[in-house]
Amino acid sequence: MSCKYCDNEVFYVRRYSGERVCKKHFVETFIDKVERTISENKLLSWNDSIMVAVSGGKDSLTALHVLSIIEKGYPTRLFAVTIDEGVSNYTELRVKHTQELCSKLGIDYHVYSFKDFYGHRLEEIVKIAKEKGSKLEPCSYCGVLRRKLLNTAAKKLNATKVVTGHNLDDEVQTFMINMLRGDFERIIRGFGPIAQKEGFIPRIKPLKYIYEEEIMIYATLHDFPLFETECRFVKLSMRDSIRRILNELEAENPGAKYMIMNTAEKIARNFTELKKDIKLNYCRSCGEPTSQDICRACSLLEEIGIPAE
Ligand code: SF4
Ligand SMILES: [Zn+2]
Ligand SMILES: [Zn+2]
Repeated sequence: MSCKYCDNEVFYVRRYSGERVCKKHFVETFIDKVERTISENKLLSWNDSIMVAVSGGKDSLTALHVLSIIEKGYPTRLFAVTIDEGVSNYTELRVKHTQELCSKLGIDYHVYSFKDFYGHRLEEIVKIAKEKGSKLEPCSYCGVLRRKLLNTAAKKLNATKVVTGHNLDDEVQTFMINMLRGDFERIIRGFGPIAQKEGFIPRIKPLKYIYEEEIMIYATLHDFPLFETECRFVKLSMRDSIRRILNELEAENPGAKYMIMNTAEKIARNFTELKKDIKLNYCRSCGEPTSQDICRACSLLEEIGIPAE
């Protein structure tokens, strides 16, 4: 049997749709799908200044590569930013991978580090937190502080959109975790239409309908580094159990992840009204927008005695 679009040999079968594609058409239809996600969801506008948040892993490198192709059709500016959290034998490698791809694609590249912005590498913050008796996991500090620095970088570099490499699998896992926790606010924020909120640069996820497996293949075909050196703080979490369950569900019911994603978006759309009730303040310490009196990043740092900025 040959490719759906030409006489070439079949390279990949999309189980959820039955579509059979050769190598060339795997790449073409992959890019088409991302382009369709962008246009149907109005993720990009004319004259956008697009900042791709690149961790150096396969997803964000793929997002950057595909955006560099799609962006040619828009009068936009495209550049990449990596947040260097400061984890030995991990973050440096990722910066190196991203630097290489950006040079190859001729894309402007910026690195913002925890060390420069917060005065400490993540490893140091974790050590201080432990000494102060904090029970929080390193990932809690990392995630909150990374989000804040990303927003700061986007503002400094005049970005109008921030692209992240989240794929279908990530999104569906996040939805399930939020459901289990009953966290509707996050479901609305993460799965609703993109919102313009003062002080926040809108984040967009052009790979949100692409299976992780397909990203892995795209990355391999383009020689992106796939050796996944793990962060030494990574821990087995609820996400790992949910990933396993969802993969089993998908194996027996191709398309199940899509169905869950549709449900997530439907719920978020129907509850968008709730979002209007969330009052926005500005952090009394750093001035960043927050729903509290002080933002989460500043309160985490304050608790362990590190000056916020
Ligand atoms: S595993 Fe945790 S600490 Fe390490 S980079 Fe990821 S979020 Fe940060
Ligand atoms: Zn083909
Ligand atoms: Zn703050």
